[in-house]
Amino acid sequence: MTLRVLLVEDDTALRQTLRDALTVEGYQVHTAASLAEGQALAAHAAPDLVLLDLGLPDGDGEALLATLRRRTTLPVILISARHGETQKIALLDAGADDYLVKPFAVGELLARMRVALRHRGTRLAPAVTQYRQGPLAVDLAAHRVSLDGAAVHLTPTEFKLLARLVRSAGQVVTHRQLLTDVWGAEFTEHTQYLRLYMGQLRAKLEADSAEPQRLLTEPGVGYRLVESEGDG
Ligand code: CA
Repeated sequence: MTLRVLLVEDDTALRQTLRDALTVEGYQVHTAASLAEGQALAAHAAPDLVLLDLGLPDGDGEALLATLRRRTTLPVILISARHGETQKIALLDAGADDYLVKPFAVGELLARMRVALRHRGTRLAPAVTQYRQGPLAVDLAAHRVSLDGAAVHLTPTEFKLLARLVRSAGQVVTHRQLLTDVWGAEFTEHTQYLRLYMGQLRAKLEADSAEPQRLLTEPGVGYRLVESEGDG
C-alpha cells in the first residue's frame, strides 16, 4: 500500500527537495504552498501523514492542525524554523506528533515519519508496553525495568514518568504533556519536578547521566526517549 503524504511548505526549493526524497522512498506526495491549498488537499487527497510548515504566506499551520484534529488522528509532523518556539510547543500540546527544526536531514525526517505512522491510532488502541534499547528493557505490563538483565528499582513517580515516555518512544513529549500525565493538570507549571525526576531516571538508566543516550532533552520543548529497537 502506498502511503500518501501531504507536504505543506511555501519554500519552493525545500518543497521540491522533500517531494523528490519522499517519492524515492515510495511515498505518494501531494504538495501545497499555502494554508488554503493545504486545507483543500487535506480534505480531498486523503493523506496518511501531514508535514506542516508553520509560517505560511496566508496564515499559520495551526489552523490546519486544528481542522485535522477535529476529525482525525492523522499523524502531523511540524517543520519549522527555530523561531516560533512558543507556537511549536502549543501545537505539540494541541496534538501534533513531532517537529523538525530547519534545516534538517532527510534521513531524520524519514525516521520521524516512520515513528509517527507506527504510533497512528495508538491514541485509541492499547499502547506499546514493551521497550528495549541496548541494555535497557522496560515491561510496562509487568512493571519491570532492567539494565543488562539486572532489575532496576524505580519509585512510583519515576516509573510513571518512564512509562509515559515509553508510550511515545521516538517522539517528543512536551513538558506540559509530561507534567499533566504524570502529576496532574494542576502541575503544568512545575517544570522543576520534571528536571528532578528526569535527573533521577538518568542516574539510574544512563551510563553517564551528564551525556544521556536514551532520555534526550529537546531544549525548551520537552523530552524524547529514543526509539525502541526491534520496532519497525
Ligand atoms: Ca514557511
